[in-house]
Amino acid sequence: MDVQTNLQKIKDKIGQACEKSNRNIEDITIIGVTKYVTIERAEEAIEAGITNLGENRNEGFLEKYNKLTNKATWHFIGSLQTRKVKDIIDNIDYLHSLDRESLAKEVNKRATAPVNCFVQVNVSGEESKHGMEPEEVLPFIENLRVYENIHIVGLMTMAPHIDDSEKIRGYFRKLANLRDIIKDKNFKHAPCTFLSMGMSNDFEIAIEEGATHIRIGTSLVG
Ligand SMILES: *Cc1c(COP(=O)(O)O)cnc(C)c1O
Repeated sequence: MDVQTNLQKIKDKIGQACEKSNRNIEDITIIGVTKYVTIERAEEAIEAGITNLGENRNEGFLEKYNKLTNKATWHFIGSLQTRKVKDIIDNIDYLHSLDRESLAKEVNKRATAPVNCFVQVNVSGEESKHGMEPEEVLPFIENLRVYENIHIVGLMTMAPHIDDSEKIRGYFRKLANLRDIIKDKNFKHAPCTFLSMGMSNDFEIAIEEGATHIRIGTSLVG
């Protein structure tokens, strides 16, 4: 299916989810996740009107970034090895996977300007998922104030692949509640207004629970 057709379907669903939850469509950013596809397919997404692209590995990111640099806003959504920070950190616009002190320290050291970061949280408690435990997040963010190149814009999570949509809803709600707690602290280094949650199979629930950034791969370009 061409990206334009896929995007229209996704936008219709976003519209319905926004209506259901009394939200504005303009408050939702679609990140087109191009990790499975070619540069040509990523370009097709840009032509269809996608202005935010997401990649989860350094190699894939650099391949697309080097070709399409100024045509998109760049989101790094995968887990990032500390030793590979220097290769990409000045090229990305958003890091969605800040999940440990050692990574924060390296980002702060290598970046030449403040980096917009989401703290990744493991709200489902699944062992295989990356991300911090919910209880760790507030003290972690408080301690980041010493790093002048770390700017916390929000929280990110990945829900498990399960069929129980009410369970998924519960995880998203938990992340939204945690975001509210941190936002209310009014930290200068961590406004924490955004919620990066929702993928191809669960973005409508995520929007109903407050997502501001949805990360869509398969149903958009796959
Ligand atoms: C691959 C990936 C996505 C997109 O997943 P789809 O199910 O293909 O929409 C979103 N977020 C992260 C972190 C991913 O790795």
